[in-house]
Order: sequence, then C-alpha cells, then structure tokens
Amino acid sequence: MAYEALYTRGRPKNFAQLIGQEHISNALTRAVISKRLSHAYLLVGTRGTGKTSTARLLAKAMNCEKVLAGKVSAAKDIPCNECASCKSIDSSPDNVEFDAASNRSVDDVARLLSTAYMAPLQSRVKTFIIDEVHMLSNEAINSILKLIEEPPPNVAFFLATTEINKVPMTIRSRCQVLNFRLIPQETIAAHLQDMAKILAIELENDAAKKIARLAEGSMRDALTYLDQCYAMADKKITLADVNETLGLVSDADLDEIISAVQSQNRAEVGRAINHAFRSGLSSISIAEALITRLRDIEFENLRGDISDLDNFVDAVRKAILEMQGSGVPDIILEMTLMKLAAPKIISATVAQPIAQPKPAPPPKIEVPATETITPPIEKIETAKVFTGNFDADKKFFLSIVSELGQTRRTLAMSMKVANFDRFSDGIIKLKFQSVGTEEEFNSVHKTELENFIAQKLGHPVKIETAVDTNLPNPNLDRIKAQHRTFVDTAMKTFGADNFE
Ligand SMILES: [Zn+2]
Repeated sequence: MAYEALYTRGRPKNFAQLIGQEHISNALTRAVISKRLSHAYLLVGTRGTGKTSTARLLAKAMNCEKVLAGKVSAAKDIPCNECASCKSIDSSPDNVEFDAASNRSVDDVARLLSTAYMAPLQSRVKTFIIDEVHMLSNEAINSILKLIEEPPPNVAFFLATTEINKVPMTIRSRCQVLNFRLIPQETIAAHLQDMAKILAIELENDAAKKIARLAEGSMRDALTYLDQCYAMADKKITLADVNETLGLVSDADLDEIISAVQSQNRAEVGRAINHAFRSGLSSISIAEALITRLRDIEFENLRGDISDLDNFVDAVRKAILEMQGSGVPDIILEMTLMKLAAPKIISATVAQPIAQPKPAPPPKIEVPATETITPPIEKIETAKVFTGNFDADKKFFLSIVSELGQTRRTLAMSMKVANFDRFSDGIIKLKFQSVGTEEEFNSVHKTELENFIAQKLGHPVKIETAVDTNLPNPNLDRIKAQHRTFVDTAMKTFGADNFE
C-alpha cells in the first residue's frame, strides 16, 4: 500500500483539530451552531496554515446531517464524519475544488463555475473551493463576483489566497474574511510530537523544535520535514538526523563561525567555515543559515550592540548577492567573513551564547581614523522612547518585540519577517521581504502591535510598512535546496524509474 504523507494523515477532521487557528475554529463553530454561515468566505494566510483544510471542513459541515439537524454543540463534532453526507462528500460531484495556480484553461474554469447555476445533485449545498484565487483570470474573477453578489440557491464559495492584496476589493468586500495566522513554534512542535506517537517513533525535543523553527509557521512544511526525517530514520529522530536529512548546518557550526568572527580570530574563521563547507552544503545555503542564526541571536539576545549584528547580516546578505552570479562562491563567503573578522568592522564583542576566550588582538593593522570611528556607539541603555537615532530605536523596537514574545507569541513570531527600517515623523517604519508577509502583517497584526506599543509609550503610534525586494528570501532558496536533496536521496533509494 502506498505510504500516505503525514500532511494528508494529519489533516484536521473537525474544527477542534484545527491547530493554531483557534480564533477561526471558535468563530466558525459558533456560526455553524447558530446557523449563521455565509455563502462566501475568503481565507487569507501564508501557505500551510490550514486554509484549504478549513474550507473542506466548512463545506462538509454545511452538508452534515447532524449539523443540519441541530445535533452538534462542540467543535469536535463539526462535522460529524459519520453521517452519509460526511462519508460521501469527498467524492461528491457537488464538491468542486481546484487550484487557480495550476494551468487550467480559461474555458475549463468557466465551465466549472457555470455548474454553480445547476442544482446540487446529491448534497444540500454545492461547494466551490478555489485555491490561490488571486491567480484567476479577470473573466473568472468577474464570474465569481457575479455569483457572490446574486448567489444561486444552495451554493457556497471558499476562496483561498496567500496574496490578499492581489484579490480585487470587490471580492474582498463581499466575502466573510478569515485571516489565518502563522502557527506558533511551540504549537507546531507539540503537534509533531503527537504525529511521532502515531508513527511510533521517538522524536527528540530539540529535533521537534528545530523542525518547528524551520517551518516558520507552516504546519504543512513542518509535517513535510518530519516525513523526510522519518523516511531516513530508524526508531528515533535526533537533532543531528534533522540537520543531516534536511541538509542543514548545525547551530553549533554556525555559532563557531559567528564566534570566530566576533573574537576577530581569522585562523579560527578559516577553520570554522571549512568545517561547514565539508557538510557538502552550498556556500549560499551556509550564508543563508548564518543570516537566520544571526537574526535568532539578535532576536533572543538584546544585550549586545545591535549595530554589530546588523553589519554582520548586511555583509553576508551582500555576499549572497555576489555569490549568486559567481563561479567561486566559497571564496566570496570566506573573504567576507575574514573581512568581518578584521578589527575595524566588528568593533566590540557581541552578546554571544558561546563563551570563547578572546585572543590577543591580531598584529596591528593600520586603519585610517575616519574608518575606525564608525558611528559613535555610545553605550545605549535600552531607551524607553524612540529618539530618531537608528541604533537606539532599533534596539528599543526589538526590546518591545522581545517583550511581546512572553505573552503574544504569534504576534512576536510574525515580527521575525519584519525588519526595523527607521523611526521618523512619529512613525515606525518596517520593511518586509515580500508582499505576502507585508500584507499578512497589515491585515492581521498591525493594529495589535500599534496598540501594544502605544500602551508602552503612553501615546498612540503609527506603523507604516514597505516591501524591500532587495532582501534575499533565505527561506525560499533553502526550501528549494532541501527539496532537491530529498528528491535526490529518494531517487537513489527507490530508483529513478519508480519515483514519480
Ligand atoms: Zn456528518
């Protein structure tokens, strides 16, 4: 029998199992019980956060006999999964589901949508689940708009999108909007442990945490990673297994590089980076992992001079851009780290998890005075206000985010994709790596963050966002690389012919 992917096996069967989206499952449970469902939903959120699963549950619930008979009172019973409708709906012709990102022809989509005007064949409500709805042609969008404005009886639409800003306002305003959040790491890690129990394997806590961190809020990614590790593991999955299977540099290796740079020990930098190269990873993957690790350190540890870490991150980012078109990316990365390890760039020891004896300063390198005094880093005690000084403001902002982390994990996590840009004219300006992350922040988190900061400052504040397309997206390339590694291994294991 074919192996069923964990992501499919782990799919929620009722609203109570909708992990990490309690605000949505609670609201929908109330709506189902009080029979106040809409005929059009717009499900918004990044990939793997449960949009399609929720749409399927809702479609099922709209037809569930127990729900219709008013015999359900809790999320765990919606839908019941036992009645004739629940059992047959997955194969029902009344349940239309398609992905607008796939290459369906315009005619094909038009034909599918036209069936909305025909009465359901078996079910009470005919349901349309359309993934990535923003990819539809204008013509299709107009058909949907018409269907939503003057809905035929017994039809419901579930439109899912990762890019809300590309969905026309006319559609947005006529749908009930459900905003899906990035799923907190602890929630993902806990769910991975549940899945490990089902698979009858042991999953080391650190391994679960690492996978959860990599997944960056996406349960689907987390389960895919776990699946990959499971395929390679025996009875137990350790942190080392995760690193090896997913082709990752370990945090310990990264910390060695960072520590060597910060202690300006160039011999040690050379040794550490060569050690990392031996993992067989591309130098770009290593550089990206370095950025992620530096940001984690910045995020968790605000004692040091933020400007040092920023310099470090900026230099590695620049190196990645150079490496992309170069035949000698290894050398570029190594040279970048060596330059960073020179005293004139990294000026002070940054708060660092690994304590390392500070070596004697390298033989003196004459540095012109103007360069030594890179912006005067007076010791910035964490300020209580924004001052207009970048370093101080960034530090203050990060301290607020860090404080958030104790009580509002989801909001704090959403800030991981935000870069503090500047504070000016009384406005906090943030930059995002992509339109998707910016839009998610604006639609889900912005007001909450403004309120939180306003409470701290005692006066209202405004946040403005922008997209900085110059920021490389470390995640994307890493996932691509991981996928390649996985497919290669699978092909080797099963033989290319058997592997689809
Ligand atoms: Zn049912």
